[in-house]
Amino acid sequence: MTEALTTTWTQDDQQRQNAHLQRILDRIQAKTSRQSSSLAIFDLDGTLFDNRPRTAYILRQIADQFEAELPQLVQAVDGHVLQDLSLIQYGPLATLDLLGVTDERERELVTEQWAKRFFTDEYQRFDLPLPGAKSFVSQVYEAGATVIYLTGRDVGMLVGLTETLRMCGFPVGVVGTMTMTKKDFNEDDGIFKESVAAYLDRLGEVVAIFENEPANSNLLQKLFPGAVSMFLLTQHRNDAPPLADGIVRIRDFRISG
Ligand SMILES: [Mg+2]
Repeated sequence: MTEALTTTWTQDDQQRQNAHLQRILDRIQAKTSRQSSSLAIFDLDGTLFDNRPRTAYILRQIADQFEAELPQLVQAVDGHVLQDLSLIQYGPLATLDLLGVTDERERELVTEQWAKRFFTDEYQRFDLPLPGAKSFVSQVYEAGATVIYLTGRDVGMLVGLTETLRMCGFPVGVVGTMTMTKKDFNEDDGIFKESVAAYLDRLGEVVAIFENEPANSNLLQKLFPGAVSMFLLTQHRNDAPPLADGIVRIRDFRISG
């Protein structure tokens, strides 16, 4: 379930978002002026990027390529999928449920073809940055923090994710930035994020964490209790645990008046 879809966003929520994002920038600036290092951790999928457009593009492509085998998908895609991103769910099967693709052979073929494309370099360019993401990450970078992209994508997707970050204007590949991917596609996200913690501890103080998976958010908050921990109200796994106390929910990265 997507918490964002069931939650109304009030003026108070927006002011809380503004205050927390601004506080992070102020804290980094203060540390930089004392010649003290700070690290800011940003997850990619569902945090800096909305990757529903990637799936929308892929479904359209699969429908075109396998037109004869996939009549239900073709009908759904013709009607809706690129117009209404809220139909794109966390996983392909939940999306197919909403699109009315019930035929088992279609579901199998779509899932197989979706996975072949989704987890590759080529399709990441269809991801859309969350509102304010590029501007906020740039401000974090300019304030003097090391920007760390800590992602569950594996190293086989490094070229595409770097290209997408660069194309969207995020600081990447330059002094003051790092990208950390998994060595292996099948490595568990949680274990991976834990294994980098000791390394990050040696680099400096983690001041801010941005995540959209409750399990990762809880884990990173536990590993870096001194950091401000922010949770993006986008999409996450259906079997996610409750979010721990003290983690701040935000909708996007806009600091608005
Ligand atoms: Mg994520």
